Amino acid sequence: MATRASAPQVVIAGGSVAGLATALSLKQAGCKVQVFERAASTIPAGAGLALDDKTIEIMTLLTSEEAVEQATFKIPGDGKLETVVDREIEEVPKLQDRDTSLIPTRSAQWASIHQLLKNSLPEGMLRYSHTVSGFELEGQNGLTVSVEDKSSSEGTPKQLQVQADLLIGADGCLTTVGRQLAADKMAMRYAGYCAWRGVLEGDRFPDAAKRLHTIFPGAMFHVLQADSCHILIFKLPGNRFNWIWYTNQPQPKTDKPSPTVQPSPEQVKDLHARADEMFPGPVAELVKTTEKPFISIIFDREPLQQIVWDRVALVGEAAHPTTPHAGRSTNMSIADAHSVGQAVQQNKDLQTALETYQQDRLGQTTKEVLFSRCIGLA
Ligand SMILES: Cc1cc2nc3c(=O)[nH]c(=O)nc-3n(C[C@H](O)[C@H](O)[C@H](O)COP(=O)(O)OP(=O)(O)OC[C@H]3O[C@@H](n4cnc5c(N)ncnc54)[C@H](O)[C@@H]3O)c2cc1C
Repeated sequence: MATRASAPQVVIAGGSVAGLATALSLKQAGCKVQVFERAASTIPAGAGLALDDKTIEIMTLLTSEEAVEQATFKIPGDGKLETVVDREIEEVPKLQDRDTSLIPTRSAQWASIHQLLKNSLPEGMLRYSHTVSGFELEGQNGLTVSVEDKSSSEGTPKQLQVQADLLIGADGCLTTVGRQLAADKMAMRYAGYCAWRGVLEGDRFPDAAKRLHTIFPGAMFHVLQADSCHILIFKLPGNRFNWIWYTNQPQPKTDKPSPTVQPSPEQVKDLHARADEMFPGPVAELVKTTEKPFISIIFDREPLQQIVWDRVALVGEAAHPTTPHAGRSTNMSIADAHSVGQAVQQNKDLQTALETYQQDRLGQTTKEVLFSRCIGLA
């Protein structure tokens, strides 16, 4: 490992999964890290996600084996692809031909993974109600990051100028950092479909959970294909069931630039009627018993040619927004975090470290985004 005279100062824009995992990884590499998150607090939102073995290994390095074990659920079986004909389920042969190390083996709720990372940070490293609004590079001397601090309940926001050696953009698909670097490359591409998503609380609705097990005995990771749509169902820790129901449709109009939409009561009613029409009883019941389902409008982006510019790097969704079919978004974010930390630990020169990170991740994430786009079209 290369040694340095003093700890590099790192600013991270965004305190979601990619931002917090990168903060932990860079802290382990000897950096002094500040994470600025625009939201006022953690939003206890989100549904389920699926994690591969490499991600579990990295999460264990960043937190602890016991905590990762507790926050995740080993998905039994190796996944089933099925089709719905006249509301009956028929199994179809698997067409998967891909790197098996990328296949998820454990599931978790987004909120538990976020909480686990957050609890592993030292006090004060993450600051809510702080928005990164821009930055200025200062040649060899690092950069100045502009941050709007809205954390005080009184008066107008404070404008902070924070000196740093590195800036990490972990600020999601609409990335402010990325747009300052290459605005023309950051446009999002609507994938042609949306996803209804939700989590059934099995302990609150034991009958619905039991009936689901009657049609899915044993393994619990299923993709059911039906007319112009498919639904993915898998079990989460704590007797919960995650589902994602993809439907082909024109791009919905939204009043805010977010890919997540809270549906109206009429839309939920319509969803329930379609579930009854389309799926076997227990699957329709899963959808209808879920409290607060939400809609994700599915986007990705043309893969970037670079994710590093001088002393600035993008990680996670800021670097490579992807469609969710292959369950890669969170896995890629955590792999980015590990890679950037390793690169900084092994290279004394920070620009060389970021180039090493780019070399390690750009080709791989490009492949994964395009693979996911491809299976989304299938
Ligand atoms: C509330 C929430 C719930 C989610 N639930 C799920 C889920 O159930 N399943 C799933 O697969 N994925 C979920 N995701 C997405 C998931 O986190 C990502 O798919 C993936 O893990 C990569 O995340 P990311 O950290 O790169 O980006 P994101 O998760 O999109 O986070 C970006 C973060 O940056 C912050 N931010 C944006 N702009 C600025 C700025 N200028 N300054 C400071 N902060 C900024 C945002 O508030 C946000 O917290 C969720 C994301 C959020 C924010």
